[in-house]
Amino acid sequence: MGLAERVMKLGKKLFRIQDVNGSGPMAFVSSPGLYIHVPFCPEFCSFCPYNKIKYDFKLTNRYLAALKRESDLQKNAQFSSIYIGGGTPSYDLDLLKGVVSHFREMTNGEIALEIHPADVSIKRLEEIRETGVNFVSLGIQSFDDFTLNSMGRRRQDSSVSHSSIAKTTSAGFDFVDVDLIFDYQLARRRIVEDLETAISYGPEQISVYPMMRFADTAYKNTENDPEKELEILEELEDVALSKGYTRDSLWTFKKRNEGRKYSSVSREFFMGIGTSASSFNGKEFRTNTFSLDEYFSFVDSGKLPVSKTIKMGKFSAILYYSFWALYGGRLDLRLVEEHFGRLPLRMRYLLHSAIARGYLERAKDVIKPTRIGTRKLHIVEEWLTYSFIDRIWSDLRSRARDHSVSGESVL
Ligand code: SF4
Repeated sequence: MGLAERVMKLGKKLFRIQDVNGSGPMAFVSSPGLYIHVPFCPEFCSFCPYNKIKYDFKLTNRYLAALKRESDLQKNAQFSSIYIGGGTPSYDLDLLKGVVSHFREMTNGEIALEIHPADVSIKRLEEIRETGVNFVSLGIQSFDDFTLNSMGRRRQDSSVSHSSIAKTTSAGFDFVDVDLIFDYQLARRRIVEDLETAISYGPEQISVYPMMRFADTAYKNTENDPEKELEILEELEDVALSKGYTRDSLWTFKKRNEGRKYSSVSREFFMGIGTSASSFNGKEFRTNTFSLDEYFSFVDSGKLPVSKTIKMGKFSAILYYSFWALYGGRLDLRLVEEHFGRLPLRMRYLLHSAIARGYLERAKDVIKPTRIGTRKLHIVEEWLTYSFIDRIWSDLRSRARDHSVSGESVL
């Protein structure tokens, strides 16, 4: 059995998903990143696995009040950064202003926002910047009409993709990330052109994700092909390198010499608030309910709206932490020991085996994936996505449909 297969077998044994019905606060040893989920979308895209609810102006004030209440219940008021994702958090500017003005004093770090291209205008970008948001992720997905249509991006065509990236990259934000998605079944030329076009606008970072076949999406009965995706990602890496970008993590390309990085998933420890938000404190991974009705009733009754948990011992927590650190391009062993204490023998053995096989390379206390190691990480990441994330999300989605009393349109 190969090393990646052994890690997946271990993960299956160690990470047990449990149902819970609300919870108390989560303790953090250092300031976590704060993730805030805003689930409202005016239109749903057919590929989208995220928790989203049809936008309804009448729900937004109550949702903002519930976010504040949930954060009070968590009893943590200092964060290393704030990330506002969704849903479409750029759609309702009043809601966004309410969120940022309440939470911005809780961090000295970046305040990041996901922006839908259809919400971009020069005026709106200025207003977003005035709230204190300084990092943005623009969900372009593609510059190609056929690709956008096949993903059900009803609010966006290629002209919106072009004009939104041009405006966003010249709006004066400290950092602009552009998200692209590719499906290995599409023509290779189109995927490469999408990356070249994004690079031509000069954003600090471009994240390129393979289309994942989540349950409850239009792609649920089709299959991923990790080998083909890897080939494409390597071709994209060569294109990026030739144009002054470097591969910074599994799926991100960063401008050469750009020291900062931006990601919703590679923060060490994070506290999530809002429907479907996840938290990790080094001992436990939690996910909130997907149901808006249930979310409101949890926070109204003074309980955190947690619906799933994975409790971790020291070894499993280090394994989980190390995977995401390597996914982000770098595992610092001093930090691991600072957070978790001395590395267990099993973990040392795993890392040594990966280095001996040429999957990882070590320079002093820092371990990085090699190109072949990046391939293995991609395979483990897809396994993790389907075995854990998709399972948790799809179960919570179907429970949300069962729990819906207000007739909320939830997916
Ligand atoms: S991809 Fe974004 S805009 Fe589309 S449905 Fe999902 S959350 Fe909403």
